[in-house]
Amino acid sequence: MVKKNKPDLSGVKPVLIAGAGPTGLLLGVMLAMRKIPFLIFEPRESVSQHSRSIGIHPPSLQLFKETGLLDEFLEKGNRIHSGKAFVNHDAVGTISFSKLEHPYPFILTLSQQITEQILENRLLELAPDSLSRGQGVADFTRTKKGITAILDNSTEVEGSYLVGADGKNSLVREKAGIEFLGGTYPDHYVMGDFEENIDSRDEARVFLTSRGLVESFPHGQNLRRWVIKTSDKIDTPEAGWIAKEAMDRTGTSPDPESCSMLSSFGVQRLTADAFFKKRVILAGDAAHVVSPIGGQGMNLGWFDAALLAGLLPDILNPEKPRPKLLHSYEYRRKRAAYAAAQRAEFNLKTGRAFPHKTAFLKKLIVHLMLLPPARGILLKKFTMEGLD
Ligand SMILES: Cc1cc2nc3c(=O)[nH]c(=O)nc-3n(C[C@H](O)[C@H](O)[C@H](O)COP(=O)(O)OP(=O)(O)OC[C@H]3O[C@@H](n4cnc5c(N)ncnc54)[C@H](O)[C@@H]3O)c2cc1C
Repeated sequence: MVKKNKPDLSGVKPVLIAGAGPTGLLLGVMLAMRKIPFLIFEPRESVSQHSRSIGIHPPSLQLFKETGLLDEFLEKGNRIHSGKAFVNHDAVGTISFSKLEHPYPFILTLSQQITEQILENRLLELAPDSLSRGQGVADFTRTKKGITAILDNSTEVEGSYLVGADGKNSLVREKAGIEFLGGTYPDHYVMGDFEENIDSRDEARVFLTSRGLVESFPHGQNLRRWVIKTSDKIDTPEAGWIAKEAMDRTGTSPDPESCSMLSSFGVQRLTADAFFKKRVILAGDAAHVVSPIGGQGMNLGWFDAALLAGLLPDILNPEKPRPKLLHSYEYRRKRAAYAAAQRAEFNLKTGRAFPHKTAFLKKLIVHLMLLPPARGILLKKFTMEGLD
């Protein structure tokens, strides 16, 4: 059991963080390692139980190595070493991640609630009094030398900077008057987690079908996630429908009785107009939202956290503070968010139905994409190389 102390809200903390999602938690771990005092405020009493995000890419595994988190992630996650492409029911080719020049040439998959629990345990190991659950940030005011966060119960906490890691609907972003620019794509998906019934735990499968994309990913200890593109928004997806649709489109299907999670989602592309403004800094989904297809959002937030944690000691340096480094943070992370959004858009377009294209033509395109040099580019796209 990890020890958690009551946070001390008095005094001035160099960094206040709104949100204990993946971004806020990793930022906390990295600040604790640098001995920078901070406090995280999170309205939820415990980690979210939704298994939203499952894909952890090689550059994030490298970050976990540096933060002492890797062993636990490797133990609890599932390693995907290759992706197999199908056109309708037919296998067309495989892309192997072992071709990556990286110490961790695989994508690790596990539910977001387990990911968040591992991060939170590490955070509390390093800084037991750094996490305040049950109170979100309701507002803030700027002072001469810093910022005062006002919590839901009206408690005021003083800091030098406030990091908004409070997700897509970030209150910090809104109160800071930073616009969220972008829009919504017409695409809709349903997804469900089912007990594994396919004998290849190290393989992701992507089916380009005449009725639209189907993806299936093994994750955690014994689960497989099925993601199915739908022509319209389905508010209450059903396990039986997913199983039937998977069977019709791909020739394989999960057992509907074994379903442990169902949800549906649409797709947006949004980027904050500014990533910082007068003592407020944005990170993670608060700063950028990309399509879940391709599984990049959580990883992108971690790369924000890593860069910010590296810059904050200089930004906060009591002898010679360097707030202008935030321009570098904004420039680099905006570029990464743009690149990730472009990659996500490529995935989205590839997954559309294209009923007018014959199966032969689709197979030919996929086959060519899996040959060098296109294969090398795809490999980088799928594994978020260069976005950290
Ligand atoms: C269906 C789906 C599948 C996905 N799959 C993947 C994947 O495989 N790989 C991947 O990389 N990404 C994936 N993503 C994206 C990923 O889930 C997000 O990018 C990630 O959760 C963002 O983390 P975050 O910490 O920035 O924000 P969040 O996870 O949204 O966390 C924000 C936290 O802030 C808290 N909060 C809210 N308001 C306040 C407030 N006022 N004060 C304080 N705290 C507040 C919230 O309670 C929450 O805990 C997926 C998304 C979806 C929808």
